[in-house]
Amino acid sequence: MKFDELLKPVPELFFEKSGKPEDADILLFGAPLDKTASYRGGSRFAPTAIREASQYMESYSVRTGLDWDDLSLVDMGDIVESEVEPAVENIRRVVEEIRGMGKFPVMLGGEHTITLGALRALRPDAVVVFDAHLDLRDELFEERLCHATYLRRAHEEQGFKLIVVAARALSAEEIEYANEKGITVITAQDVKRFGAQPITEMIKDTLEGVNSVYLSVDMDAVDPAEAPAVGNPSPEGITVTQLLDLIAGIVDKRLVGFDLNEVSPSYDSGLTAIQAAYIVLETLYMNTASRRRG
Ligand code: MN
Ligand code: MN
Repeated sequence: MKFDELLKPVPELFFEKSGKPEDADILLFGAPLDKTASYRGGSRFAPTAIREASQYMESYSVRTGLDWDDLSLVDMGDIVESEVEPAVENIRRVVEEIRGMGKFPVMLGGEHTITLGALRALRPDAVVVFDAHLDLRDELFEERLCHATYLRRAHEEQGFKLIVVAARALSAEEIEYANEKGITVITAQDVKRFGAQPITEMIKDTLEGVNSVYLSVDMDAVDPAEAPAVGNPSPEGITVTQLLDLIAGIVDKRLVGFDLNEVSPSYDSGLTAIQAAYIVLETLYMNTASRRRG
């Protein structure tokens, strides 16, 4: 199996979920890449920190009523490669393999650039990103492929329907590109002003007629008060509750993959990794519940 050459085992597993990949519905892996961080690096330590935090979570999910046994998941370890292009390529291969097995891929970043690998494997009709930033720059510090440009590269390649939620740290160049391409940008201020419910309806309308959706959560979507340890913190973010209420409205059987990225664990005392582990867990419980509904 290809996994052996692309992934290395890790000592601590997410939510202590081990087993054979063939037997699980959800296959999780870490992508500890932080080569292009522009401000606060260290997201390569995030998969380990999030796994550690997950081991101390209560297993019962209040939102779904599901528990540990309901989550059919195997943590397969981390991507080996640490250079940008080869790492993105390895992520693509791993996600393609997972997809080929009919399983649901989940990735723990790492910097946001990792999402490009998953999108290249899955080619979804629509992408929903929670992020303070648009990541639609053409280049940053002369880099064409980095955490601030990955979504521009993916969108140029595939032209999927794109919705960015919790946006608030923007550049004129990105707004121009978004307007030109009909990209839906929902600001954090919109979410806080109108509440999660009407925004959820708006996102659902935008996703009507779409067959496959990919979900990516940049941890800086959340306000620094709740999630301080991120690569590029940005004030006026949404709450974890708002984030999960919005995700609850989006997750249905069309979801083909999910990642969470940009946690930089060394910038706090563990809080942000705990929030991240909780967001991943609740999202996977919601995904499990939606597939049971059929
Ligand atoms: Mn991002
Ligand atoms: Mn961001």
